[in-house]
Amino acid sequence: ALNFNAGPAALPESALAKAEKEMMNYQGSGMAVMELSHRSKEFEEINERTKNLLRNLLTIPDEYEILFLQGGASLQFSMVPMNLLEEGSIASYVLTGTWSEKALKEAQKVGNAVIAASSKNANYRFIPSSSEIDIPAESSYLHITTNNTIYGTQWHSIPENLPVSLVADMSSDILSRPLNLSAYGLIYAGAQKNLGPSGVTVVIIHKDLLNRSRPGLPSMLDYRVHADSQSLYNTPPTLSIYFLMLVLQWAEELGGVKQLEQLNKQKAALLYDAVDSSGGFYTGHAEEKSRSLMNVTFTLNNEDLTSAFLHEAEESGFIGLAGHRSVGGCRASIYNAVPLENVEKLSDFMNVFRSKN
Ligand code: PLP
Repeated sequence: ALNFNAGPAALPESALAKAEKEMMNYQGSGMAVMELSHRSKEFEEINERTKNLLRNLLTIPDEYEILFLQGGASLQFSMVPMNLLEEGSIASYVLTGTWSEKALKEAQKVGNAVIAASSKNANYRFIPSSSEIDIPAESSYLHITTNNTIYGTQWHSIPENLPVSLVADMSSDILSRPLNLSAYGLIYAGAQKNLGPSGVTVVIIHKDLLNRSRPGLPSMLDYRVHADSQSLYNTPPTLSIYFLMLVLQWAEELGGVKQLEQLNKQKAALLYDAVDSSGGFYTGHAEEKSRSLMNVTFTLNNEDLTSAFLHEAEESGFIGLAGHRSVGGCRASIYNAVPLENVEKLSDFMNVFRSKN
């Protein structure tokens, strides 16, 4: 399949092939991966290896804890304020799309959360610049969404030297490019785009922030509890973590995040070129400076043409190209595991469809 789904999304073929070979009888144990006890030597090894791979790939310093949690990125919308928003202070959010709106809404249920900047009036076509971000003095943290899966925008420079901790939802662009982790207090990502299958959420948190949690938090919602038990406080999503390990091994073998970034730039350029050279046949949703390397969003001139495009694309084997229901149009999600040749095929298809119509 030429899979352009937004998530769950394409996984590396070689990781799938490896799973097919070893998953049903893990290392000769006579047990499938999903039959292993989470307290077994085998699973503890998987857990540790996965963390180490992530630490190496993203150059995560020792002062940061890596947690594997459940509940998706959506639960982080609540856990972040529950753990980081101190009594009497404010949580500040930059609104760049539906997911940041949701994150803000959940924070407002926990405490005082405000909008520090927003591009909503422009239908989220761009990422606000650092100078447009207004952080109230009493803020505990600033929350951003580094890649906006639905609108197809991405932060290309991160606000630096902030007076508060920076918290980022990186669900749809983690591992797609090198990361200067020291700019962040906490990052989180649901796995089902760049990291693996759904079911596991990665949280990377500076150890200093582990002491801020509100007293009396339910244990499962307390970062400290998960950190103190190496993410084995309760039964973790063992199969998802195993797959995460395979995806990280693939990324390492490929040459790491620098190599992935280069490939991602090459893939995105193919599609944006097809849009830009179409003489207005295709229109990109995002402003050029804010374009995402992960989700390429574009529209055609009218509904009929859009339907014809999506229909013909499906007939030709392209999957998942309809835009999110809240935006419409088309979206091609080209995460790490989407092969360059599939993107070349899509760009060719776009050019041929344009000349025919
Ligand atoms: N944040 C972003 C940027 C997303 O793209 C998504 C899902 O697509 C979410 C959060 C929600 O993730 P989950 O379904 O894991 O809760």
